[in-house]
Amino acid sequence: MKINVVGTSCSWYKRNNTSFILDDKMLLDVSSGNYKPIIRNIDIFDLNAIFISHLHADHVGDLHIITTRFIRESKKRGRTTKLRVYGQKGLPEQIVELKKIIYGAPDELDLELLKDSIDFIEVKDGMEFEESGYKVKVYKMSHGNMLCFGYSFTDKEGKTISFSADTCRCVSLETMLSTSGYAFVDMAGITENPHHLHYEGFAELEKQYPTCKMFPVHTSDPSQEYAEKNNMNFLHDGQILNL
Ligand SMILES: [Zn+2]
Ligand SMILES: [Zn+2]
Repeated sequence: MKINVVGTSCSWYKRNNTSFILDDKMLLDVSSGNYKPIIRNIDIFDLNAIFISHLHADHVGDLHIITTRFIRESKKRGRTTKLRVYGQKGLPEQIVELKKIIYGAPDELDLELLKDSIDFIEVKDGMEFEESGYKVKVYKMSHGNMLCFGYSFTDKEGKTISFSADTCRCVSLETMLSTSGYAFVDMAGITENPHHLHYEGFAELEKQYPTCKMFPVHTSDPSQEYAEKNNMNFLHDGQILNL
């Protein structure tokens, strides 16, 4: 899998928010501020699918722009197949609402127009399906009171690459790590808390699941600094990995 790391940060810092382009065909989260780096890297017209972890802005904030651009491009260039967007219930309604609030143009995008070009697929914990040649598995994570999903992708050779999204330590995360060769894992927490894994917890999991190469993402500046000082597999915005 080719992984383009669009961003590595959580909301509060100068780096881009955490999101990924997979094989130039799929997006994992469309964070606020990441629309431009994404369109500098890929042609939205060629997208197969978007996976959304949860409804915090640093994960879904630019989805309304990407979907609007996709609709425009596919009408202009005559695409007949739909884009698939995987995420929780209510995602299309949220896109339309957000668009109205931000642009004050209620006619520009409505649910009918959105569903004309895009299939919204509601995900649930433990769900498995095929997408773009991968077997995808959905994990419900533990992110305070927010409903949040992580996704793992298994290729035809059986290699599994996972994305935890926002989570603290939980059974789902551990199951994901125990079955993955590579995992991109939330390390935003500076102290232990019910929303995010912190760096000591991350380091413990690295020891506990040595067969999984873990990359800290969604980092705060202190946790990114910790990762660099301790030779963890830290990443930079714009980095491309072939795993
Ligand atoms: Zn976040
Ligand atoms: Zn969040």
